[in-house]
Amino acid sequence: MKNKILLTFPGDVTNTPIAYDLVKKYDLRINILRASINYNMKGSLLMDVEGTPENMENAIKYLQDEGINADFIHPIIKIDHDTCVDCGLCTSVCVSGALILSPDDFALEFLQDKCVGCNLCINVCPTKSISI
Ligand code: SF4
Ligand code: SF4
Repeated sequence: MKNKILLTFPGDVTNTPIAYDLVKKYDLRINILRASINYNMKGSLLMDVEGTPENMENAIKYLQDEGINADFIHPIIKIDHDTCVDCGLCTSVCVSGALILSPDDFALEFLQDKCVGCNLCINVCPTKSISI
């Protein structure tokens, strides 16, 4: 199974090797999509995580025991294809490649699996065709 998970953790566990533990202890494949630490040393980590359901469940328990909050993310942007004019502006801010113009007819395509939920595309659309 594959999930997109947002981890948020307090400053005192910022130095815990979370990614390493998820790979070594729980045999998960991870792909870090976004990472940040704020001025209070609180951190957040958005990642794709792939592995067996059992390993996933054990990993979530481990994270919770470490004081780390784990939320499953389901990106839910919606495109109104009636108002979209296929200008492609949103594709220029979508670093994950979830928004592309089809090479066949240059129509906008949304590849949900690639969306990381950053919402950057929403504000750049001149026709307000993208919503959450
Ligand atoms: S929310 Fe972010 S990742 Fe998802 S389609 Fe928009 S720009 Fe791309
Ligand atoms: S920016 Fe808006 S109008 Fe342009 S392709 Fe994206 S969704 Fe369509």
